[in-house]
Amino acid sequence: MAAETVIAVRGLSMAYGAVEAVRGIDLEVNRGEVFAFLGPNGAGKTTTVEILEGYRRRTAGEVSVLGVDPERAGADWRRRVGVVLQESAVEPDLTVRECVTLYAGYYAAGLPVAEIIDLVGLSESAEVRGGRLSGGQRRRLEVALALVGDPELLFLDEPTTGFDPSARRAAWDMITGLQGLGKTIFLTTHYMDEAEYLADRICVLAAGQIVGMGTPDTLGGRDSAPAEITFTVPAGVTPPDLPGTRPRPIRDGASGGRPAAETPQTTGRRIELQTDSPMDALGALAAWGLQQGHTLADIEVHRPTLEEIYLKLTEAAP
Ligand code: ATP
Repeated sequence: MAAETVIAVRGLSMAYGAVEAVRGIDLEVNRGEVFAFLGPNGAGKTTTVEILEGYRRRTAGEVSVLGVDPERAGADWRRRVGVVLQESAVEPDLTVRECVTLYAGYYAAGLPVAEIIDLVGLSESAEVRGGRLSGGQRRRLEVALALVGDPELLFLDEPTTGFDPSARRAAWDMITGLQGLGKTIFLTTHYMDEAEYLADRICVLAAGQIVGMGTPDTLGGRDSAPAEITFTVPAGVTPPDLPGTRPRPIRDGASGGRPAAETPQTTGRRIELQTDSPMDALGALAAWGLQQGHTLADIEVHRPTLEEIYLKLTEAAP
């Protein structure tokens, strides 16, 4: 079955006077996806999200969110879109339950209050006043308030900034749970592990342009990038020729982490190789080690991390 497009953007541009914050981007988000929007500070993420949410007018391009241009959207459309409001939305003197009930009163139909509180994992704090919530609990309450109208599409802007590791895990579970309910989630984040864990697809924005789009595994050619194999051979031992390997290029800091020269990296007896077929090389290496009685205990195989791919994509941007 063909995926249903929930957000469609063509040639979107936005200039603040002379500052071109967004410079002609195209993207589509499908129903039920968690779509992560990454990019360095000032890349144009907030500007784009505000345009998609209908809070900012664009300079050029076509935008459709749930089949409607956000610039011309009405109250019915707004009910279908959940936006996490800033901290001011949390009333310090109301309990979690009272605050959610107050917001739910604005909607003719929506999710039951208890269900919303449960969804965001605040059931045990339902009678705690807003002013006494921790930062993480407050953020959950903000998400709860975005959920009262039972939106189809949810914008989450840096939902776990400042969370401790267990609160982040709990927030990830909450987001996975929302996806399980069929909601489409547009997530902005600066955390690579968060994008890797949650996102079906990742879009990387840099200097107002899209510099990468793909699944966490395929972004920036990650799945086809060469693997690096490193191991140490005992003193006086010559390592075997391994099929399909080449010396790992030197990473020169001055060249921004890009390969500078094809010179083997042998620090002492540490051998560093690059290969497109790590299984063949590892098989040959293991056979050689077993035959010669060398343990090669520190053998490592490294594929680029999402963070390395992200840095490469964004550093290459103008
Ligand atoms: P961050 O990760 O820091 O939140 P961002 O990717 O969300 O950054 P934007 O806030 O969209 O980036 O900003 C993109 C560019 O537009 C920046 O150069 C910023 O200075 C500029 N900009 C943003 N809002 C305005 C505004 N209201 N008036 C003028 N320039 C703005």
